[in-house]
Amino acid sequence: MEILRLPVLDDNYVFLLFDPATKTAAVVDPAVHAPVLEALADRDATLVTIFNTHHHGDHVGANAKLRAQFPDVEIYASEADRGRIPGQTVALNEGDRVSFAGYEAEVFFVPGHTRGHIAYYFAPQANPAGNLETGDLETGELFCGDTLFAGGCGRLFEGTPAQMLDSLSKFRSLPDSTRVWCAHEYTESNLRFALTVDGKNRALSDRAIAVRAMRSRGESTVPSTIGLEKETNPFMRWDDLAIQALLETSDPVRAFAKLRGRKDMF
Ligand code: ZN
Ligand code: FE
Repeated sequence: MEILRLPVLDDNYVFLLFDPATKTAAVVDPAVHAPVLEALADRDATLVTIFNTHHHGDHVGANAKLRAQFPDVEIYASEADRGRIPGQTVALNEGDRVSFAGYEAEVFFVPGHTRGHIAYYFAPQANPAGNLETGDLETGELFCGDTLFAGGCGRLFEGTPAQMLDSLSKFRSLPDSTRVWCAHEYTESNLRFALTVDGKNRALSDRAIAVRAMRSRGESTVPSTIGLEKETNPFMRWDDLAIQALLETSDPVRAFAKLRGRKDMF
């Protein structure tokens, strides 16, 4: 499986999953349709699946137009988002399994940014066609929408700090090598904030320097990995003693709430 990252709007990423063996494709959170149609045409691919993480317009904006072009497309989204996902055909819950071109993903229910937010996790697995030399998913792939960002997390529009902490805990237990395909390029400013609460973290300051250089060359910082996020993202470090000391609480939910509050003001 090939994973393409399409930069759209100001700072969104749309991800296209392409299976060369079947010439089928899936798209994660299509904000807009034109670059998706172009990438499909380039590969002579049929769109069979849309994976939506949540109902915001910059994640579902092209559902209807893509459906018009590919009437058989399945549109997967959260059960809790029923009624606010254009064209939704399948309603998903925690632990459900979905597949694309024979590859299997697990659904995580991760409320916080919104009350219905879900994520899709493809564990490492062999190419289902079996007879090709490439196409294995050697690392896990996590499509997490606006829940976890590189160096940060989504704003709590419809959820509580406790919910978001619980959602991010699910990601924290994935293998460190899991790639994190988040839906926005927010990394540089996220790390600027992170340094204000975790400034003595050497891995973080190294990452901030590397990211600044990447952005000045116009490079993308997505995907990240779970391991890197655990080391450098304060929103994955609510139990870090230095961060808790700064926030003057040893309660994980209070620490997380304070952290999110500071970021909202940053
Ligand atoms: Zn959103
Ligand atoms: Fe978004």
